[in-house]
Amino acid sequence: MQKPNGRLVNQTCIFTGASSGIGKAVAMAMGMEGGNVVVNYHSGKKEAEELAHWINDNSDCGEAIVFKCDVSEEKEVKAMFKKTVSHFGTVDVCVANAGIQLDHPLHEMPLTDWKKVLDVNLTGQFLCARESIIEFKRRGFRKEVSKSLGKIIHMSSVHEVIPWAGHANYAASKGGLLMLMESICQEYGPEKIRCNSIAPGGIKTDINKDVWSSKEGAETMLKLIPYKRIGIPEDIGSVASWLASDESEYINGTTIFVDGGMTCYPGFTTNG
Ligand code: NAD
Repeated sequence: MQKPNGRLVNQTCIFTGASSGIGKAVAMAMGMEGGNVVVNYHSGKKEAEELAHWINDNSDCGEAIVFKCDVSEEKEVKAMFKKTVSHFGTVDVCVANAGIQLDHPLHEMPLTDWKKVLDVNLTGQFLCARESIIEFKRRGFRKEVSKSLGKIIHMSSVHEVIPWAGHANYAASKGGLLMLMESICQEYGPEKIRCNSIAPGGIKTDINKDVWSSKEGAETMLKLIPYKRIGIPEDIGSVASWLASDESEYINGTTIFVDGGMTCYPGFTTNG
């Protein structure tokens, strides 16, 4: 766990899908920066409450509340932002992290699973970004806490650039997210809203447990990682904390790959 250094004191951060994996680690890391935390969950109520207790019991952190919402449902996302503003006064950072995988060969992909993945991974990110921008503009600058009007961090994936056979719905959602993020940057950069993505590579969480939990699966995964280590959620937490802080103020419209080099196509190491 990183040391607290107060980079988000008096700021309020929403984390979607924060009851597990990357979202939980990012909420803990950014909580340790002194910010208030909204722990969004969809199915892990107990885990979300445990995380909020951990933050509330930690004197380096701000205050945490939990909020259940399905990020693909407009009304629920609006309710989450309304609750955050009524409780904490505003939103300064949104980490749109919730995501799912429903894998099928394309010719067997049911339309329902195509739509579900796009709904959560892309529409959910749009809804959270839209509500963030509405709130940033309503609230106006708070120069005493940040040079930016507000910060949006999308949790993307190396699959925003690496095609993924058998996972076309997931890859399409993350590819779409790249254009969403860049378009937001173009549209709202002039208002000093920063919008960036983090693209994790292979990180040990529930979403890919079936792969890394077996010896063979872990070995296959390592072949894709030049740095020869499978990532952990804390690898993303430390980058997200920095990306939300003013230390990275001039970074806008960028995807930061946190992947041990996976996007350098290690399959070509020995001449392809
Ligand atoms: P995870 O399964 O632990 O986390 C996903 C979270 O999203 C869960 O807490 C889940 O409850 C929540 N969620 C699912 N549907 C939701 C909905 N409709 N509304 C709100 N929350 C919902 O897996 P993770 O690896 O921590 O994934 C987090 C993000 O990181 C995802 O966007 C995923 O695509 C991305 N990612 C993960 C990896 C990896 O290797 N683990 C790699 C690249 C990208």
